[in-house]
Amino acid sequence: MSMLLEVTGLHASYGDFRVLHGLDFTVEKGGISTLLGANGAGKTTTLRALCGMIKRTGTIRFEGNDISSKATEEIVRLGVAHVPEGRGTFTGLTTEENLQCGAMTRRSRAEIARDLEQAYHWFPRLRERRNQQAGTLSGGEQQMLAIARALMLRPRLMLLDEPSFGLAPLIVQEMFSILRKVNQEEQVSMLIVEQNAGVVLELADNAFVLETGGIVMSGTAAEVRDNETIRAAYLGY
Ligand code: ATP
Repeated sequence: MSMLLEVTGLHASYGDFRVLHGLDFTVEKGGISTLLGANGAGKTTTLRALCGMIKRTGTIRFEGNDISSKATEEIVRLGVAHVPEGRGTFTGLTTEENLQCGAMTRRSRAEIARDLEQAYHWFPRLRERRNQQAGTLSGGEQQMLAIARALMLRPRLMLLDEPSFGLAPLIVQEMFSILRKVNQEEQVSMLIVEQNAGVVLELADNAFVLETGGIVMSGTAAEVRDNETIRAAYLGY
């Protein structure tokens, strides 16, 4: 399978504090990969480094283009959408206004209208809440809104930071099953950062386990799931 994202020797720091120490990993075209690891391992930092939000060195190739020194806006335009930790929806705007903000980089009104319908197709709860202020939505609905808003960019790669955080198990299942359908039907590849390893390993094709800024294991999701040592030491389940 061809690679959509190829990361080699990725380093990143906050000032003098070095967080990532040379990561190598890939996301297959059409695939779902997950980056696992304990609190503070550097998962969020990895996503921030990929989309140019912090200083990084190393090589990041997306669809064959070297994006390692490009600015965030340009990386977004190339087709990488980031759904940050804590969702980042505009709480004072309605659901629909949030979705329209997601299409900001696009021009065609007809296509935007079609994608809005598509977003409501994937997330029917959002249609019911279309005129409601985002700040009044439940946690699960806000997470779905953040994902739907990122999809309005028509990305080819979505970077999701702890989408299951703070959600009830049933909502997590519902959200992950929608993500799988979006992945398959819209060919959106995904890199999902999670602490909830058990659930995301059911969904992902490949997994990487991070510890203090270095990858300690990579393989198929099944290989990582079946590795007792890794499970006990890093995944806590
Ligand atoms: P979590 O699940 O807690 O978000 P994580 O694996 O995503 O964990 P990061 O948030 O990437 O970890 O943090 C990695 C390291 O970088 C931690 O030691 C953290 O304290 C440090 N760090 C994170 N953000 C900053 C920042 N803005 N300035 C300085 N240090 C930071």
